[in-house]
Amino acid sequence: MRVRGAGNVARRTLKDAAQSLDRERRCRYALGMRNNHRPLASASLALLLAFALAPAAHAGQWMSRTVDGIMGTRIFVELWADDPQQGQQAIDAVMAEMRHIDDTMSTFKPTSEVSKVNRLAARGPVVISPELFNLLETALYYSRLTHGAFDITYASVGYMYDFHTHKRPTAAQIKAALPAIGYKHLLLDPKTHTVRFSMPGVRIDLGGIAKGYSVDQGINILLARGFKHALVNAGGDSRVIGDRMGRPWMVGIQHPDHPDEVVTRVPLVNEAFSTSGDYERYFIQNGVRYHHIINPHTGDSARQVRSATIIAPTATRTDGLSKTAFVLGAEGALKIYNSLPDVSAIIIKPNGQMLYTDNLQPGNLPPAAPPEAGAAPGPASGPLGGGDDAALTPPQGASVPPPGSTAVVSGAAAATTNSGH
Ligand code: ADP
Ligand code: MG
Repeated sequence: MRVRGAGNVARRTLKDAAQSLDRERRCRYALGMRNNHRPLASASLALLLAFALAPAAHAGQWMSRTVDGIMGTRIFVELWADDPQQGQQAIDAVMAEMRHIDDTMSTFKPTSEVSKVNRLAARGPVVISPELFNLLETALYYSRLTHGAFDITYASVGYMYDFHTHKRPTAAQIKAALPAIGYKHLLLDPKTHTVRFSMPGVRIDLGGIAKGYSVDQGINILLARGFKHALVNAGGDSRVIGDRMGRPWMVGIQHPDHPDEVVTRVPLVNEAFSTSGDYERYFIQNGVRYHHIINPHTGDSARQVRSATIIAPTATRTDGLSKTAFVLGAEGALKIYNSLPDVSAIIIKPNGQMLYTDNLQPGNLPPAAPPEAGAAPGPASGPLGGGDDAALTPPQGASVPPPGSTAVVSGAAAATTNSGH
């Protein structure tokens, strides 16, 4: 996923933005996906009351910050703050939480708890923090749910890849290490709060779930402080609180071969969004793409799809599910996604075909747009709106649009475009 700064806004016209935003918002709303928008009358009343009662000094403002290099990625936080000082303090707290998770869970930090587990857990039980214990339990839950496609022990082979230096294990190295991949090697004891590996050679890496978890932690901090409109993004994982200026937050799904293009945009309100792509960390050798999502059954990169985007209530969930399509293939993964009512997915296959969960199929659309479309409450009404009856989601099997046919957009960019203040 791309969450971009204001610099990219110029790439799309307001009209484009309005049309696609409206189309997609209506699609998802028509599909009955979660939204907490209130009807127009109560929204207007709420706004009128808010303006009437608010002291003049508390004008409020949007604030954002980007920090590079936490969990090996870029963290972006944007929120609406009635009090700028409280806004800054809240962003400080979110960044501190991200650093804490990095310090605890990074395999690149020898002092992290996860590094300690990797050093010691094959020898015997290792006592770990409740936070790590809970996340390991969550990781096991996603392993079971995805029939082993999501598996943090992928690292038993995965540690031999280095996508910066184009290093990969030989076939013999993979063969020797492969038996150590398997989530069933991870033995958790809730009584003693310990973790143990059932055999030597097992390693874990939380790179496929810790960012989603950190986004949820960041969102929880903002919710606890009363923020009603915010976005937290870490790498491919994002979650939003509320809407932005009365409109959904917009996030774009990157074209797998053209980083400056999006293939489609997704409106979000009170939801999380993760995209996994084979273009994030990779190298090509002898025409073969080696990338960072590893098939636990083979120890090789999982090449069944190019990109998978999941939308669900929490970023831990979207992160825990976004790797599955690479390993099981689009159709196999869709069976799992379609069995989860709170999950939507958009998958891009190697031939450019895009597949969707049933709850994003155009055939499921009711005939009329929902009454609340364009009338959501927020700190202010944005300029985008109006309706068009253009096609909604691309049909099942639609191809990735050709280069240049889509504009770059994201939560941040759309948010800036949506400037009503
Ligand atoms: P991002 O790190 O940008 O959020 P992803 O959510 O796609 O990207 O996660 C990719 C990471 O997931 C890899 O870098 C690796 O740490 C981890 N990973 C790779 N293969 C698997 C797998 N089969 N199961 C669980 N985690 C995996
Ligand atoms: Mg992720």
